[in-house]
Amino acid sequence: MIISELKPFEELQQALSEFDKLFLIGCAACATACKSGGEEEVFKLQEWLVEQEKEVTGSTVIDEACHIMRAARDLRQHKNAVQDADVLVVLACGSGIQSISSTAEKRVVGGLNSMFLGNVRRFGHYEEMCSLCGDCILNETAGICPVTTCAKGLLNGPCGGMEDGHCEIDAEIECAWRLIYERLQSQKRQGVFARRVPPKNWSHRRKPGRYRLQDGER
Ligand code: SF4
Ligand code: SF4
Repeated sequence: MIISELKPFEELQQALSEFDKLFLIGCAACATACKSGGEEEVFKLQEWLVEQEKEVTGSTVIDEACHIMRAARDLRQHKNAVQDADVLVVLACGSGIQSISSTAEKRVVGGLNSMFLGNVRRFGHYEEMCSLCGDCILNETAGICPVTTCAKGLLNGPCGGMEDGHCEIDAEIECAWRLIYERLQSQKRQGVFARRVPPKNWSHRRKPGRYRLQDGER
């Protein structure tokens, strides 16, 4: 899921300074799971805004704010409160914020910063494991992504700076290449060490990404 966090209150205060009446929007998917934009956070934001002497015309938490049609449908159900507001404040990742801004005529202020695509280790503990590079080499690296989990994104083994099995960039993180080596050894195979991996071809990372299911059918 997309890991996001609330913007600093000072930044939000600045972004909302020109508006008096606000409609609040949360996301019931990722932003709820990482406690940045669910019911509870929308309610807390509302309390804070009222303290700032703002008027909240209404609020909603959309099932998946990144679903453009669903977001538009949900906002239609709150038509009057949306119309009454000067601005829509969105507690969702950047994708959700853009769903709203692409369908609503009102100004939109995003309340969250989007950080990364995260795996959930346990509740409240998220780890980036994939950078969505579009050219996956996991089959050769025993299921551990060096593009993402090596701090330098190295493709041909460790940098030489590892200390006690941990990364020289961040001592709290285990060296990705040590983990890859150990797991490949336990599987009794060479994997990625059997060849020299050429420099990464980042043209596979399509920006902006576009994919239609009928194009991808085989
Ligand atoms: S190689 Fe690319 S697609 Fe595969 S896990 Fe790493 S970043 Fe993700
Ligand atoms: S110590 Fe390991 S994880 Fe850290 S940058 Fe070097 S190779 Fe990558």
